[in-house]
Order: sequence, then C-alpha cells, then structure tokens
Amino acid sequence: MNREFRVEELVVEWRENRRRKQTVGFLFQPNGRLILDTPPRVDRSVLKDMVKENLRWIRLRLNKVREEAKVNPPLRIANGARIPYLGERLQVQWIESDNRSVLRNGKVLEVYAPSTRHVRAAVVDWYKARASRLFCRQIDAFQHLPWLAARLRSWRHQFMTSQWGSCSVDGDLSFNTHLVKVPEHLVEYVVLHEMCHLKVHNHGPRFYSLMREYMPDWEARRRELNGYLPVLFGD
Ligand SMILES: [Zn+2]
Repeated sequence: MNREFRVEELVVEWRENRRRKQTVGFLFQPNGRLILDTPPRVDRSVLKDMVKENLRWIRLRLNKVREEAKVNPPLRIANGARIPYLGERLQVQWIESDNRSVLRNGKVLEVYAPSTRHVRAAVVDWYKARASRLFCRQIDAFQHLPWLAARLRSWRHQFMTSQWGSCSVDGDLSFNTHLVKVPEHLVEYVVLHEMCHLKVHNHGPRFYSLMREYMPDWEARRRELNGYLPVLFGD
C-alpha cells in the first residue's frame, strides 16, 4: 500500500518493503516527487522528521533528477528507438513476421513481429532473457568468494525503480533487470556489493574493507553507475 504526506511543497510517498531491514531508500522522481522505500512498520512521524532534517539535500537531488530528465527524457521502446544495452545503444528495427523473435545484429536489434504494437513487449522479454544470462555469468565469476557457497540461498532479477539490488538476511539476492542496460563492469560492482552483504549485512567499515579487498576501484564504479539512474525510469 502506498501512502503520502507533505513537507512544505514536497509530496512524499512511502512504501513498505519487507526485504528492507533498517535503512530507508530515497527515490527521487523526475516529476519532483520523493518516494521512500522503507522497512515494514516505520512510523509516519519518523519518516516526516527524516525528510525535514534532510530537506535541503532532498531538494538539491530532486532538482538534479528533474534537470537530467529534461536532457534525457525517459526512454520508451518503439520501432526506431535507440535503446541502451550493456552501455551501448542498439537501434530497434521492426521486421514484419508472423512469429515473434528478437535478434541482435551488430548495433541493430531486429524485432520480428506481426505489427509494431508487439515491439515493446518483445524487447522487454529480450531484456529479461539477456539479464538472466548476464547475472548467471556474473555470479559464476564470483564463485571464488570464500563465504559464498555457504550463504547464498537464491537469486533472482526483476524490474525495480528504487534500487539496483538487495540482499535478505536469509541469503536471497535480488538484482534490478534494468542493469542489463549499463556497462558490465558496473553490473559486476552491484553483484559484488550484494554478495558482500551476505557476509556483512550493514554498510559499516567491515563491509567497505571487504569491497576494497575484492574491487579496489568500487567507488569509481559507483559514481559511474549513478550517471545511469535515468535507465530506471525508462521502459
Ligand atoms: Zn548495500
């Protein structure tokens, strides 16, 4: 269930996320709204105080997202669109066909379908299939992490708007399917981040020393990933 409150001119929506344990996620929307992604059963007054205390910072971030959205409006999938894939751009090209399939041909993504009305769904399915392979590959590449086998219970991916990934206390990892749009070394950063949470469940010094040990340049990757936030609002 989504709920709202106001702090001065700001409309804040909040939604409870049972996978969140402690921290509150801030999602800055290009339409000027703020969404809080919170652990279950957080008090409205606590959230309101949190927003009031951080109001200056929140306004700055919202303005930045709004400005970025003007420069780069959220991308919609359609015939002729140039869509992001692993940090590249592919041109969607519809080709009339009775059967639906999607085929990458260099910088062109050929979408075979009966009409252009099917293009969007076909490309979204293609993204999901490519994301499954991407995360399989990335998770395989981290099998050398000594704690992994004992602590990783399951993983999945889904389209989300408020986070790149998450880790439950029981060892279930969740990744954002939108990551299929960003360069692979940034996906690697998100995967390692969540895997480190299997060992250290907070963002304390032990967590960051683990990140440094296995990915010395993780901070540069995080900065680079922040530049890709608009993909979260595209198709
Ligand atoms: Zn984290």
